[in-house]
Amino acid sequence: MSNNLCISISDHRGTSHYLINHFKKRYLALFLLLLSAILIGGSYSIYALYQQTLFSSSQLDLLNVEAEQLTESLSEESAANQALTQQLEDKNAALALLAQRVDDVETILGLQNENGEEVTLEQRIDSAAISSAVRGTLFRLIPNGSPTPGIRMSSGFGSRVHPVTGKRKYHRGLDFAANTGTPIYAPADGVVEAVRPSNKGSGNFIKLNHSLGFATTYSHMSKFKIKRGQFVRKGDLLGMSGNTGLSTGPHLHYEIRFLGRALNPRSFVTWTPENFDSLFEKEKTVQWAALLEMISNVVSMQVQLTRAPEQLTSIDTASTQTVSTDKQKL
Ligand SMILES: [Zn+2]
Repeated sequence: MSNNLCISISDHRGTSHYLINHFKKRYLALFLLLLSAILIGGSYSIYALYQQTLFSSSQLDLLNVEAEQLTESLSEESAANQALTQQLEDKNAALALLAQRVDDVETILGLQNENGEEVTLEQRIDSAAISSAVRGTLFRLIPNGSPTPGIRMSSGFGSRVHPVTGKRKYHRGLDFAANTGTPIYAPADGVVEAVRPSNKGSGNFIKLNHSLGFATTYSHMSKFKIKRGQFVRKGDLLGMSGNTGLSTGPHLHYEIRFLGRALNPRSFVTWTPENFDSLFEKEKTVQWAALLEMISNVVSMQVQLTRAPEQLTSIDTASTQTVSTDKQKL
């Protein structure tokens, strides 16, 4: 019996005894040993896994912090990138606008090559050489635009039967169908040569003397707003249109004279910076090439004078050079 192991298990039904002999005991011991090994191994594995989990968790926390930092810096970068993109878009828009304006200026200055064709006049006058300053000066000195803006022309320049006398007579001006009281504006800078009230012929009459041999007259007016000898600038109010003198109805009779000779005002009335060459093409009476050369010289001299004092010593030489260059062009 000493080699046998007795195991007693008691419960409410009584006690059961199990006898385990030597052979079985060895197996049991082996089994218990194996079980212990498994339990110890398992516990260690669980412990190791637990430690690993703890480590992984802390690693995960670190990674999360890093990810947050990265997200933050990414959003900062993204915002900076957006700002840069916006700046770039703004610059592009500004550049496009500038290009458009350069285009417009070129169109106004007539610098664009139209199918490579050149008008005879353009062979004499190098449009590209005429600076915008020269053009600006011309549009102040030479009558341009309508003296009664927005009012239609009712009678043109040339031979016609006079509406009052019934006789064929040369109509030396343009008539504008302006109601009495319509404001009349100076079409260029000038000086008032005559303010003449009258009930006959031209009626109440104004004559402006402009530069370079040009003069303009205004007939049948109702009111004067200027006096003889007064200097006026383009756009200044001269008076109001009316129906005085030999007139069938309220209108403005407008004349442009060059050295006393009446020219067709139509090409001057329709003359704008957009059709700069049109006046020179239509009106052949004036020696435009010489006139433009003179204005170019005056303007270039003014440009020289506005430069720094130390540059003034070179004016004489520069002016002489400008004149000779322009002469070659014209
Ligand atoms: Zn008339």
